[in-house]
Amino acid sequence: MHLARFKRFAIAAALLAAAGAWAQFDPAQVHPEPPPVHARFAAPAVKFDTPAFEPGQIDFTRHEQMMARLQALVGRPSVHLEIVGESGQGRALPLVLLARGGRWQADKPTLMLVAHQHGNEPAPGEAILVLLERWSAPEYADLLRRVNVVALPRANPDGAALFQRSTAVGDIDMNRDHLLLRTPEARAVARVAARYRPQVVLDMHEFTAGERWVTRFGAWTKYDVLLQAATTGNLDAGVYAAGMDDFLPAIRRAVQAEGLSDFWYHTTTAKPDAPVAMGGVQPDTWRNIGGLHNAVSILHETRGYGIGKQNLARRVEAHVVAAQALLEQVAKDGPALVALARRADRAVAAQACKGRVVVAAQQTPERRELTLIDAQTGEDRSVPVDWRSALRLQVTRERARPCGYWLAASEGAAVRTLRLLGVQVKPMSSVRPVSVERYDFKSVEAGQRQDGRGAIQDQGGIVKAQVALQAQRRRLPAGGWYVSLAQPLAGLVTAALEPDSQSSYVAARLIAVPRPGEPDRLLRVMQPVR
Ligand SMILES: [Zn+2]
Repeated sequence: MHLARFKRFAIAAALLAAAGAWAQFDPAQVHPEPPPVHARFAAPAVKFDTPAFEPGQIDFTRHEQMMARLQALVGRPSVHLEIVGESGQGRALPLVLLARGGRWQADKPTLMLVAHQHGNEPAPGEAILVLLERWSAPEYADLLRRVNVVALPRANPDGAALFQRSTAVGDIDMNRDHLLLRTPEARAVARVAARYRPQVVLDMHEFTAGERWVTRFGAWTKYDVLLQAATTGNLDAGVYAAGMDDFLPAIRRAVQAEGLSDFWYHTTTAKPDAPVAMGGVQPDTWRNIGGLHNAVSILHETRGYGIGKQNLARRVEAHVVAAQALLEQVAKDGPALVALARRADRAVAAQACKGRVVVAAQQTPERRELTLIDAQTGEDRSVPVDWRSALRLQVTRERARPCGYWLAASEGAAVRTLRLLGVQVKPMSSVRPVSVERYDFKSVEAGQRQDGRGAIQDQGGIVKAQVALQAQRRRLPAGGWYVSLAQPLAGLVTAALEPDSQSSYVAARLIAVPRPGEPDRLLRVMQPVR
């Protein structure tokens, strides 16, 4: 732990508290379950002792309480605590590494847990404290010879302090920021992923229990747990299959053995005709970006948003059980899992210059019966819904996969962002003329990012471009950069650099669309170059 940073944080926190700037969790804002619904969710036998459960504490575990809990683990043989960044308001972003001797073992698989990206979804943060306490105890010493765990217990501490979804600075949904890295919070997640290259990642959230479901259907959600693996274009098929066939079933079995229920992750809006959509298929959420890191990447959500501390022990238990199942599966697979990820890294890199790359995809419309809990009777009620499945991707735009991309010398911001993601970018000196494809921007208009249920609330929106490709032979000017696709993170590269993907750096204005007559800033390189 960097003590100076911690002191600076403590001073900033004290000043904020003195100024009354800490809105925190407000029990008056809770919409409690009506008794017939609440009766469906019995408390588990297990008791938890994180600060949120202490009698008299109205709030969930506060930042300084979490930091004190983490500090108390330092000194246990497997624990290494580190501050990997600062939030927009200057709060520490702690990372806990659990491994033999507190040292990351490069030849062992790594499980990465990320909690509390959304500050008003508190159960994951409580669960991680429970898990770190448990896994750093002597009984787990043997298991931690075979596995590394890296945990970000509170990815968005400002949001948690304010009990709000977004970051405090910039009001950004950090879970849509994992390709652009505008927030220091998402940059910290990226640094950890690039450094430890986890084979399995778990993104821990909570979903809405009532609210829009009550408005739309007069009913509450039924399932304790909603799950989804990475679902986006250009994923490695072997890693995807491991997630669907091994890791998701392992979580489901563990959750069900605990008497909890589960289903595919889905969400909707309060609009009467809005579809019920599974989690998005765009390369911007941590779930999908984790998949493009060639990790088995799983979203795990508990039924807890909007109901305050109702069912809190049950929600925490669900996260604990799911993470425990993952840890055991990672330990069981051990070297095979490391080999699977290395094979995926090689397979992705070997696709450079070959085949086709997905630029845009969408969910598949289906009709489905969804089971909810009737608000009046507390009985199950089935409602027909327009369902958007992320399990079958509809590719709406694809093109030949280039060997790599050339970026003009002016594009330092894009280069820095790619490097933060762990992508290799090389300075490129002038070479012989090479085959390239330039983007001819046919139309450029302002728009909004979309996901399965509608437009994403974004500050400033995006640039929606329509492009045509023009094949040329060109000598590339000196001072530019080359981003080869012959690397493991090639899926992140195409997501960032194909300009007509809604998550791209052009869409986000990180790379400007050249005006007529201006030189190109970005080219597809269609032959191998050094
Ligand atoms: Zn969330």
